[in-house]
Amino acid sequence: MGDVREERDVTRLPRDDRAGHGTGGSDAPCLPHLSHSGGVPESDWARAVELIRSADEIALACHVSPDGDALGSMLAAGLAMRALGKRVVASFGDRRFEVPRLLRFLPGQELLVEPARYPEAPALMITFDASTSARLGLLGDSAAKAAELIVVDHHPSNSGFGTMALIDPGAAATAMLVEELIDRLGVPLDRDIATGLYAGLVTDTGSFRHSSTSPAAHAMAARLVATGLRTDEIARELWDRSPFGYLKVLGAALERVHLEPEAAGGLGLVWTYVPRVDRAAYGLPYDEVEGMIDIVRRTDEAEVAIVLKEDDEGAWQVSTRSKGAVDVARVCAALGGGGHVRAAGFTSHRPVAETMADIRALLTPA
Ligand code: 5GP
Ligand code: MN
Repeated sequence: MGDVREERDVTRLPRDDRAGHGTGGSDAPCLPHLSHSGGVPESDWARAVELIRSADEIALACHVSPDGDALGSMLAAGLAMRALGKRVVASFGDRRFEVPRLLRFLPGQELLVEPARYPEAPALMITFDASTSARLGLLGDSAAKAAELIVVDHHPSNSGFGTMALIDPGAAATAMLVEELIDRLGVPLDRDIATGLYAGLVTDTGSFRHSSTSPAAHAMAARLVATGLRTDEIARELWDRSPFGYLKVLGAALERVHLEPEAAGGLGLVWTYVPRVDRAAYGLPYDEVEGMIDIVRRTDEAEVAIVLKEDDEGAWQVSTRSKGAVDVARVCAALGGGGHVRAAGFTSHRPVAETMADIRALLTPA
């Protein structure tokens, strides 16, 4: 009982106290200040808060084929803004508008509208985890016509679209910026809001395994878990279940995996691909294979890992990962995409062999 109360208290501590400053206890650990938002000037936070507070209706958008950080951040923000009494609509601009199966547990789905029902020229629009307006897909036109467009993101490659930005390339997830925004709006974190933020945090840190995992990321997790989250259930939804067909499609992809030790200046490349016919044989939706890169990238002999996934329209969605010596964001940007140094992607409309030749030519150590 005492423990429970103590946990609840943690969620109410002001941000600076959570970091261990000024709490007075002589045996309190001396932790660094855990700011999530080093990249965002105070004046921008103030302006964003003012824009949101004075709005009646707010239109939210995240990037196409949303992942846990994109959708989790957007829905958490949407729930917080609804708690402020705002009318909120949220969407993403995929031609086939469907929430990926593994993200259907996220609270706040009632805020979602199809792109066709999205405001054409919102008074206030906010985007989440989208590094360029092209990543908004069908919602790009609304973004172009929005009177105010706040871009919330953590991609170093962000193109600088929008009328104002809350961007911190040092943040492990867009969800970290959203947590700060919600605090600044004065909305208490409830379990539903925390679930979206937690999904974003664990997705983009790879469950606290990636190099982006900071003390601030763990401190944020502690605060979110204290709202009563079921971390075991969230982990199972995100990573530990799939239809049987996934095992067969994975098996086929692993059968055709290639290792090229001489690629990337001798650092090595491992790659495979998943044609849509493989998925069709088992009725497996595209989003079920999005995480396959996490299996391929474990290869010791390769600095760079790539999985090309053919979507239902016949375009190839290319996932690239490095272990740090190669900047895959640079490679993907050169091919029309973007992302982070160690995790990036792009879309190709060319045959697999040609796309791989393009990539090989660009793969050089950073
Ligand atoms: P994933 O391989 O998980 O789809 O994406 C890895 C990273 O690259 C994510 O940060 C994602 O936002 C980014 N990314 C993936 N595809 C694209 C793309 O087509 N364009 C841009 N700009 N970024 C992408
Ligand atoms: Mn992200």
